Amino acid sequence: MLRNFVFWLSSKKTLTDALAERGMRYGFARRFVAGETLEDALAASKELNRESRSISLNHLGENVATAIDARTVAESYASMLRALDREKLDGNISIKLTQLGLDFDEGLCQALAREIAATGAGLGRGVEMDMEGAAYTEKTLRIFEAVQREFPVTGLAVQAYLHRTADDVERLARLKPKLRLVKGAYREPASVAVQKKSQVDENYLKLIGTLLDGRFFPAIATHDAAMLDHARQIIRERNIPAEKYEFQMIYGIRRDLQAQIRGEGHGLRIYVPFGTEWCPYFMRRLSERPANCLFVIRNLVAESVKSHPPSAASPH
Ligand SMILES: Cc1cc2nc3c(=O)[nH]c(=O)nc-3n(C[C@H](O)[C@H](O)[C@H](O)COP(=O)(O)OP(=O)(O)OC[C@H]3O[C@@H](n4cnc5c(N)ncnc54)[C@H](O)[C@@H]3O)c2cc1C
Repeated sequence: MLRNFVFWLSSKKTLTDALAERGMRYGFARRFVAGETLEDALAASKELNRESRSISLNHLGENVATAIDARTVAESYASMLRALDREKLDGNISIKLTQLGLDFDEGLCQALAREIAATGAGLGRGVEMDMEGAAYTEKTLRIFEAVQREFPVTGLAVQAYLHRTADDVERLARLKPKLRLVKGAYREPASVAVQKKSQVDENYLKLIGTLLDGRFFPAIATHDAAMLDHARQIIRERNIPAEKYEFQMIYGIRRDLQAQIRGEGHGLRIYVPFGTEWCPYFMRRLSERPANCLFVIRNLVAESVKSHPPSAASPH
């Protein structure tokens, strides 16, 4: 319900414009977004590295519509890799293929993804492909397979809510790839994805078992304590060494669990989003948890009280 309401709100331009204008100025967007510039993201990443967490930089943005825009994004992804290297940070980057022209030219998209992976490999750094809406799943897999064959450190996100994912994971197994297991963040119809949280969780638990069976480098990406417990139990039972898997969480979410996982000696990578187009991402994070909306409302109220303090002469 709330999720749908926040999705609906996110389509109201006056609201998103107001949020976009105030979010960084008043700081509340920084809870989930490292900032608007690469420098902001690097500063946040340094802080996370100091706490022994590696990072994955994610430049927020929407689908592009022209080859020129796709090339510009590809260049900015390459600059992110070079900046990580220059700053000697422990991290990689996450990319979205729709930012590289997946909507209109699969060949161009693959060529640009390959160039980015080549830049990363030249610097000894991996590139992880996010998984987007179901309309892109098959094309994303095709591009991933081609790029990963050449650059084996390339990773891919797989979504537990899709009916097809268990088969996709088997299809990818022969590549021994890095796979990031997520629940799935898009609204998909029942024909392609399970609809109930309990079913998503059930799929997720099964896929944890598969990804930890030795054929993959799994990244268990969740803030769900039950999923994390299950993964840690399998890791213990199968005696899997810490260098054979990692956990991943999102910047600003469940920092208590982040500290706990790291404290137990597991590898932890934090997904660090940044960029001027942070508003849709921010709205998605709000929709995932009612308390996040209260947090923003509290900030907006505090801001308006600061700019219009109640009059001391008020008779009431
Ligand atoms: C590193 C990383 C990369 C991702 N990449 C992708 C991708 O490529 N494609 C894709 O579709 N999805 C991606 N996702 C998003 C994912 O699909 C889920 O939407 C998101 O992680 C929430 O699911 P959850 O596993 O945390 O479990 P949930 O069941 O949603 O949440 C479990 C608990 O986590 C906490 N929590 C979850 N979200 C929030 C929040 N916003 N604010 C505060 N607390 C919260 C709450 O305590 C909640 O009870 C990624 C997630 C992570 C962690």
